[in-house]
Amino acid sequence: MTPHRRYQHGATVGAVLLAATATGAGLYGMYVPAVVFGFGVLVLTEAAFREHRRHQRLVLEHDWARRRSQGETPPPLTPCCLLARASKGEAHDHKCTDVSQWAHHAEPHTSAPAAQDCAS
Ligand SMILES: [Zn+2]
Repeated sequence: MTPHRRYQHGATVGAVLLAATATGAGLYGMYVPAVVFGFGVLVLTEAAFREHRRHQRLVLEHDWARRRSQGETPPPLTPCCLLARASKGEAHDHKCTDVSQWAHHAEPHTSAPAAQDCAS
């Protein structure tokens, strides 16, 4: 279980409890608290969906890395990395699954060419 899955479960439980509280407040004529609790339900529901998406992405990245370590050449994920999605493809992070983008960066655990250029 990833931390994202735990957060998803927590947000879901919170949303259900707040929904029950909002319903109870509405039934007893306390409409202002019911609306506030209803807003909390929306926020926690969005958080639960967001954590679900993060969990799914992490599982896909782990599966991609496992397949790559076994010698396979899996296709890149869509989007290839979260930074590419945020930057509209202008930048890629260290967990990028698009192998063609790796040529622009130094391979991990090797000496960086930029350091050699600075020395000369
Ligand atoms: Zn990328």
